[in-house]
Amino acid sequence: SAFLNTDRAWVEINQAALYQNVKTIKQLLSPKTSLMAVVKADAYGHGAVTVAKTVLDAGGEALAVATLQEGIDLRLADIDAPILVLGAINTIEEIEAFSRWDLEATLCSPQQAQVFAETLRKTGKTLPVHLKLDTGMSRLGVLWEEAVAFVSLIQQFQELEIKSIYSHLATADENEESFMWLQKSRFDRAIERLKTSLNYTPPCLHLANSAGTLRDRSLHYDLVRVGLALYGLSPSPKFTSMPEGRSLRDIAPLEPVLQVKARITQIKDLPAGAGVSYGHKYITDRPCRIAVVGIGYADGVPRNLSNRLQVLWKGQKLQQIGAITMDQLMLDVTSCDNIQVGEIVTLIGKEGEQSLTADDWAQQLGTISWEILCGFKHRLPRLAK
Ligand code: PLP
Repeated sequence: SAFLNTDRAWVEINQAALYQNVKTIKQLLSPKTSLMAVVKADAYGHGAVTVAKTVLDAGGEALAVATLQEGIDLRLADIDAPILVLGAINTIEEIEAFSRWDLEATLCSPQQAQVFAETLRKTGKTLPVHLKLDTGMSRLGVLWEEAVAFVSLIQQFQELEIKSIYSHLATADENEESFMWLQKSRFDRAIERLKTSLNYTPPCLHLANSAGTLRDRSLHYDLVRVGLALYGLSPSPKFTSMPEGRSLRDIAPLEPVLQVKARITQIKDLPAGAGVSYGHKYITDRPCRIAVVGIGYADGVPRNLSNRLQVLWKGQKLQQIGAITMDQLMLDVTSCDNIQVGEIVTLIGKEGEQSLTADDWAQQLGTISWEILCGFKHRLPRLAK
């Protein structure tokens, strides 16, 4: 029930913002370029099924996930758009599941392609596959110089239908752009060699993640694979190399989709000199009123934010004090008139003019917003608003 869902702590998903972000991103693309929404890791913590449905409603053409199970979960929710599994699959059981669930695989090595072809031959099925080239990320894929050999191998297997050739940018969200352009030129050279050596033109090419998509149209090709920007965050909040001091956020006004909220569960007055929470990492230096809030590190609020986290209450910023515990954390509410048990505080999101973002947390922790978003646990119900 709605009461139980908002009893303690939860994540709110702003569907209208997500819908608008898709429209905003699509406006950057030429009509020939499709949008593949990256909804792996439960749509970066937002809830994959709800996000996938909204993105497809808003005009997204395809979906990408990291694992076979993530793809199956979308099919079980009656989503019938094309789904690319970005991760590498190597076992026979998994390959068989691709046909059964109408999923599309990434092929990233000759050995893997061999296993795919042999497995499919026994079932008499063909499978749409996407070939991954490594142009400098040094993660999945055959090295770009080996593209011709790789494609000619795949062409020998009737069971494998090449649906696209793609690569992934390693530095599109960095100020220094030269390596990004080197990756693009390697990708272009590999595709050119397929033409000259094999007289082969791939049906679809893709290279860009969010940063590449926002950064330059020449990176768009036939399809862009967008994750973070869908969720309304900038891949590079401190990006400074754009002309005229623009940031990636200025290119596309995106709205954060996720908010994290929790309820106050107890309020009490403490004397001066009271140690707060495990290890007494905070000692009151005056008589203090504190509020206990029902959210903690087991929900995805990093313990490393202890004594640094801020939350919003009625549009006012409050300071969190003492160690963040597994299920609860404490706030200094001495300055809050009339604060009540049961009231809601916002950990990430907007109240009035004030906002707190996953970028703020990432910056404090020396990490990236992607990790913060993926960190929100299943214990927090996702409420679509
Ligand atoms: N493409 C691939 C292969 C990825 O692994 C990812 C995510 O890490 C993306 C696209 C989307 O990246 P972003 O969230 O930066 O848009």
